[in-house]
Amino acid sequence: MSKTTFPASRAEATARLAAFLPHAGKDYARLRNHDPGPDAPSHVSKLSPYVRHRVLTEAELVRAAVDRHGEGRAEKFIQEVFWRTYWKSWLELRPGVWDAYCAARDRVRAEVTADADLAADLARAEVGRTGIDCFDHWVRELVETGYLHNHARMWFASIWIFTLRLPWELGADFFLRHLLDGDPASNTLSWRWVGGLQTRGKTYLARADNIAAHTGGRFDPQGQLAQEALPLDGPLPPVPRPIAPGPRLGNDGGRTGLLVFDDDVDVQELAERVMPVAVAGVSSAAARSDAPVASNVQDFAAGVLDDALSRLSVPGARVHETVLTPEGIAETARRWAREHRLDRVVARHVPVGPGRIIADRIAGALQPGGVAFVQDMRGYDARAWPLATTGFFPFRKHIPDLVAALETSD
Ligand SMILES: Cc1cc2nc3c(=O)[nH]c(=O)nc-3n(C[C@H](O)[C@H](O)[C@H](O)COP(=O)(O)OP(=O)(O)OC[C@H]3O[C@@H](n4cnc5c(N)ncnc54)[C@H](O)[C@@H]3O)c2cc1C
Repeated sequence: MSKTTFPASRAEATARLAAFLPHAGKDYARLRNHDPGPDAPSHVSKLSPYVRHRVLTEAELVRAAVDRHGEGRAEKFIQEVFWRTYWKSWLELRPGVWDAYCAARDRVRAEVTADADLAADLARAEVGRTGIDCFDHWVRELVETGYLHNHARMWFASIWIFTLRLPWELGADFFLRHLLDGDPASNTLSWRWVGGLQTRGKTYLARADNIAAHTGGRFDPQGQLAQEALPLDGPLPPVPRPIAPGPRLGNDGGRTGLLVFDDDVDVQELAERVMPVAVAGVSSAAARSDAPVASNVQDFAAGVLDDALSRLSVPGARVHETVLTPEGIAETARRWAREHRLDRVVARHVPVGPGRIIADRIAGALQPGGVAFVQDMRGYDARAWPLATTGFFPFRKHIPDLVAALETSD
């Protein structure tokens, strides 16, 4: 299998977007569900590792597709980008779902350790030795490239849950440890969706004929897959919480430090508003799991952060290029604030997930020294997030308005 590589830079991301753009209209609408495999030209953009870190923003993708094809012909592509926005919004309104996932993952991992048969089944799945060719191939593709096609992710999750009967939380964790685009919202909620926890009672069953038809006959797992998918059991999600965007930050005349989280490395516009005297990066990639996260995933996150810091240009700012790692983050952040005599630390609003946990830790560490930690929410997020109160279909009705409201700072 030749490796799909993802160089960690904005230059690479914009070149890929430009190359994909001619296909973002009717080609995408017709062919996006086909997975020709890692060695053949793709029908999808493969931009998700970049969008995950906002090397490219969702707004940039949508605007580029509309400019090239018009909103009508780019509808499918735009809708897929808004699936990401919807998942991010849904989790943002219900942060407890991420906490519950992490707690269940830890609990299930302990159960596996105590059950030798289950541990052996899990080990076989994670090294791609289940005997189900397509699944074993996707394990290798995921581990080697850090990417899987959307349809392959759906089949993979369905086989993991309903055929191999493994705990969904450990499948979601396996994805988070190996996907370059591993995202607390898109990943957790998609696994919940396959298992019937997200859209209550509605599961996704992988079928051999569907796999054969959409992989160009590369695989045909007739007789190997579960024939039914009974919904998993779990508590109802919490009631959505209200979201307050907060004021748009400016230069307050004090000494500002800018923290760039790897959830959103696109900070040039924010930096120009708040005029930091110091800038530092924080990667939460290693904290996506309690188990070791693949080195290519950590390297990619560190790489896009480095690339963003090196492109940032703020008059008077001393760019602190070290990537602060989650371990010891409270003390490191406190020292950094003291070293630069900061009055406040500003960051883009950090979404729910490991980044938010680190952000909360930093806020707690800075508070005793009287240094405020303030998060600035993008207009794009502030407009979309409150809309995910129910399912995707009601949310989808807002897409034309959200597209019309796009601003250059989004
Ligand atoms: C079980 C499972 C786990 C997933 N885990 C993740 C994850 O951890 N991170 C992640 O970014 N996506 C995840 N997805 C969603 C989707 O599979 C990927 O975003 C998509 O495959 C990325 O490929 P692409 O960039 O070529 O997408 P394209 O088809 O080119 O779409 C353009 C962009 O839209 C967004 N997008 C497209 N489809 C979806 C979708 N169904 N849900 C959310 N956003 C979408 C992505 O940002 C993508 O880059 C998961 C899906 C499933 C079924």
